[in-house]
Amino acid sequence: MYEHDVIVVGAGGAGLRAAIAAQEEGADVAIVSKLHPVRSHTGAAEGGINAALREGDSWQDHAYDTMKGSDYLGDAPAIETLCKESPKEVIQLEHWGMAFSREDDGRVSQRPFGGLSFPRTTYAGAETGHQLLHTMYEQLVKRGITVYDEWYVSDLAVTDEERPEDRTCHGVVAYDIQSGELSGFRAKEGVILATGGLGQVFDHTTNAVSNTGDGVAMAYRAGVPIEDMEFIQFHPTSLPSTGVLISEGVRGEGGILYNSEGERFMFEYGYASNAGELASRDVVSRAELSEVNEGRGIDDEYVHLDMRHLGEDRITDRLENILHLAKDFEGVDGLEEPMPVKPGQHYAMGGIETDENGETCVGGLYAAGECACASVHGSNRLGGNALPELIVFGKRAGQHAAGKDLGTAEIETGQQGEYELGEVDTPVQPGEVEPAGDAVADGGVAADTGSLSGHDVVEHAVKRERARIQSLMDRDDGVQHAEIRSDVQKSMTRNVNVFREEEGLKQALEDIAEARERYRDVFVKDPSRTFNTDLIQTIETRNILDTAEAITLGALAREEFRGAHWRAEAQERKDDEWLKHTMLSWNDGTPELWYKPVILEGEDKEYEPKIRSY
Ligand SMILES: Cc1cc2nc3c(=O)[nH]c(=O)nc-3n(C[C@H](O)[C@H](O)[C@H](O)COP(=O)(O)OP(=O)(O)OC[C@H]3O[C@@H](n4cnc5c(N)ncnc54)[C@H](O)[C@@H]3O)c2cc1C
Repeated sequence: MYEHDVIVVGAGGAGLRAAIAAQEEGADVAIVSKLHPVRSHTGAAEGGINAALREGDSWQDHAYDTMKGSDYLGDAPAIETLCKESPKEVIQLEHWGMAFSREDDGRVSQRPFGGLSFPRTTYAGAETGHQLLHTMYEQLVKRGITVYDEWYVSDLAVTDEERPEDRTCHGVVAYDIQSGELSGFRAKEGVILATGGLGQVFDHTTNAVSNTGDGVAMAYRAGVPIEDMEFIQFHPTSLPSTGVLISEGVRGEGGILYNSEGERFMFEYGYASNAGELASRDVVSRAELSEVNEGRGIDDEYVHLDMRHLGEDRITDRLENILHLAKDFEGVDGLEEPMPVKPGQHYAMGGIETDENGETCVGGLYAAGECACASVHGSNRLGGNALPELIVFGKRAGQHAAGKDLGTAEIETGQQGEYELGEVDTPVQPGEVEPAGDAVADGGVAADTGSLSGHDVVEHAVKRERARIQSLMDRDDGVQHAEIRSDVQKSMTRNVNVFREEEGLKQALEDIAEARERYRDVFVKDPSRTFNTDLIQTIETRNILDTAEAITLGALAREEFRGAHWRAEAQERKDDEWLKHTMLSWNDGTPELWYKPVILEGEDKEYEPKIRSY
């Protein structure tokens, strides 16, 4: 068994920042990651990082834009923390040597982004995430922080008290992809989940194949509530054939969207008469699909994004990477032709419920980055607000896990304080088909762990996981995970996309239930112990099923139209009924639905929900 003070699961922007912060607080910290750090998906981020750095801008304006973008479903303490702390964090990156794009006078450049009232998105060409990841990785190397890379974390070692709020996380179980060895990692102070997004729940996504929602699913099964899962961001400009992202930076620099009639539809049809192409992402995605549905799409599928008028110099200076992506993945020369684009799954606004210090309701368990929900983005994230979230909340989680006093959090986690139970009418029973053998279904350990030491809790979890993996490997016939995964991805894209209606959502739940049934017969074809990606993907597929179901349950329950969540049956935002967070807890393998209030009370003002127009 490996042992450290703090274990960080994941080596993207959030994980690296958390590890650096914990180390600065004097903790012995280690990162466990299924990918080498610089292969993490943060490296794909293109457009930029929002921070109120300039005269004429303020953290208060950033907070207001973020709250409005969230369609008033963000929590003010989290939003204000993000906006107050992101300038300092961006300056820290600059001091660590991040290669930001600059003005002639040497200042870090900032560009306009959708939904922002000020051009406050700092960037490094169209490869901001790549620069950010490498800058922080340098710090990791310099500080000698231990990284167990190509280790797949498959479970958490959590005690099994009845109430999740009474449980404690003592570590994780991980599988060494290189050797096939399964081992326990004990964390004496805390475990920080920084496992990123869940785009692989859908079949058209800007996310990497590694984004399978592992952290969200593991925390959920260990009893941690997951929050606002129905809010999925569909980015308006992904390439139709692959889902590869064309950054919002293109529209930020002046790129224009056209339909098949050559009309600038954002203005022509009044989708966003003021902000046009730079309206919030949910607005632009709906506009594009409406154009296609009205018969004004190209090849009945996509619209055009044109940047030719920006000129070669500006394009190669600020958007060179976009030229490569359009050429390599779509065969289009962005200097000569418009680029085909359509909405693609891009980001999960919801995730593991945390407070503004990154803490979950399970003792010793933290989450930060895209897998977490503090909640900053509410029902719709503004472009350029995810990267600051990584560095602000990654840092806070790292500090807190290492013992720094960050003050009492204002956001309450778990079922304490004000909350109400909910109900949703589903066509099939959601959750596990049948509770899992001797291991309790909620991911806790089967023994009475109240009396066990942290070390023994981890040992117990390793034993249980070894049995699970062995049973997957023992089968020599059955269904392969790829079939199950692909059917669920297709159903999610068909039924839980930009436009959602009751019938489709129910169909998705039926498809997921059927997939769960088939997963009982899943088998791993590759018998080898080394680099067995078949096994890893089989485990990931279970996480895809759990997160897909949570997204769909939330979407079915929420009968209103808010932010990225559009419902055919409810065409308006209903603040009287729905100004609340959707929560799901995994009780003995059955999802329990409940709600908690949104916090609109900020440091010195109350945010008042208004009609969101751009
Ligand atoms: C194409 C694209 C462009 C984007 N551009 C921008 C932008 O310009 N600005 C912006 O603000 N946001 C942007 N976003 C969003 C933002 O980049 C992501 O939300 C963010 O980078 C996620 O960072 P993370 O650290 O949470 O996760 P990631 O960077 O995805 O890292 C996750 C880490 O967890 C590890 N991991 C996962 N599961 C396991 C497991 N089971 N065991 C062990 N390790 C595991 C992985 O190995 C990886 O190291 C973009 C997103 C995409 C997809």
